[in-house]
Amino acid sequence: MIDAKLRFVCEACNYKFQRQKTWRERICPFCGKHGTVHEERSVADLLDDPELGTCVPL
Ligand SMILES: [Zn+2]
Repeated sequence: MIDAKLRFVCEACNYKFQRQKTWRERICPFCGKHGTVHEERSVADLLDDPELGTCVPL
């Protein structure tokens, strides 16, 4: 669980990649932009998280 990986996606270039759960830089390794990287969450994860679920147009 310690080195669990999360999937991230860059909304600027749509590049998808994995990083450690503890990764905090949130800089896209492909385009180098900062602040455009978000966790890629499954629909099940979103349904589990009402706060995030509210900002996803389903
Ligand atoms: Zn990018």
